[in-house]
Amino acid sequence: MSKSKSKSKIKIKIKIKIKIEDQEGGIGMATTSAGTREDIRARLLGGQLVVGDGAMGTQAQILDPKALCPEQLLFTMPERIEDIHRRYVEAGAEIILTNTFGGSPHKLALAHMEGVGAHEVNRRAAEIARRAAGEYALVAGDIGPLGELVEPLGDISEGEALDNFRQQIGGLVDGGVDAIIIETVIDLAELRLAVAAMRELCRLPLIVSMTFDKVVDGYRTMMGTTPEETAEAALGLGADVVGCNCGLGIADHIEIVKRLRAVVSGPIMCQPNAGLPRLAGGKVVYLETPESMSAQVPALVDAGATVIGGCCGTTADYVRLARAAMGLPPRSMTSSS
Ligand SMILES: [Zn+2]
Repeated sequence: MSKSKSKSKIKIKIKIKIKIEDQEGGIGMATTSAGTREDIRARLLGGQLVVGDGAMGTQAQILDPKALCPEQLLFTMPERIEDIHRRYVEAGAEIILTNTFGGSPHKLALAHMEGVGAHEVNRRAAEIARRAAGEYALVAGDIGPLGELVEPLGDISEGEALDNFRQQIGGLVDGGVDAIIIETVIDLAELRLAVAAMRELCRLPLIVSMTFDKVVDGYRTMMGTTPEETAEAALGLGADVVGCNCGLGIADHIEIVKRLRAVVSGPIMCQPNAGLPRLAGGKVVYLETPESMSAQVPALVDAGATVIGGCCGTTADYVRLARAAMGLPPRSMTSSS
């Protein structure tokens, strides 16, 4: 017993050493003829154009409308989740998000998925995304909101929130993600706790992407902060990439990105929905087509976006056409990876 224990300790030590080397851009960055993850990372952080992926949540819902949550499919149909990632990579995505938007312990418990363990859910999701990405794309470990506000506005204490993010980010890092994205942020207090947990665990690039509503005086998060205020807060927390996603369609996101660009000199990520969702025949539909959305991509680039993908309702076709509209050549994939 004690022998096997000490053996596993040694294994853990070796694993930690590899992780640290990975994060410093060492052995984890293998090369292929199509470029390297290191190249994409340099372009991402250097503010050059990089293609994002499309939706995961709405795609997962199509796969199994009765699933407790999209994360459940990591266990019931992992190969189909890998297929969604792979279709995005084949369409030209260079950064893909793990299927862990609701992967915090709190969110998993709300979906009656607490039995699996958040670390396991997130590690597994990261491994599946990494397999699909190969060297063609970075994998960003996806952190969504906890689903409840932090005290005093909500019922989650700061300590609980920190622990939620620690468990989730720990699993994502162990599964081999290349970056962390904290997305669909509406509350800066929650964002600060997520970033604090991340800084304890890794030194990966950090993307912070906020969600805004259209209001009488422009755009604000649900908590009332403006694009400029949220961007300044994210930069103050050391975010490498700042952006906006979800909520609205691309026309509104162009306006939001213009405002972000007024205070952000570095990379800006933008992942709009495929337009506002509408109910038709009891189903949620998104009215923006790949063609209509991609027609507005040049204006989004002019506004200052450097990473462009899609959120709810978007698919691989949206990514393929957005990539072309960004002036990038179609993805060429060799069989070696
Ligand atoms: Zn969305």
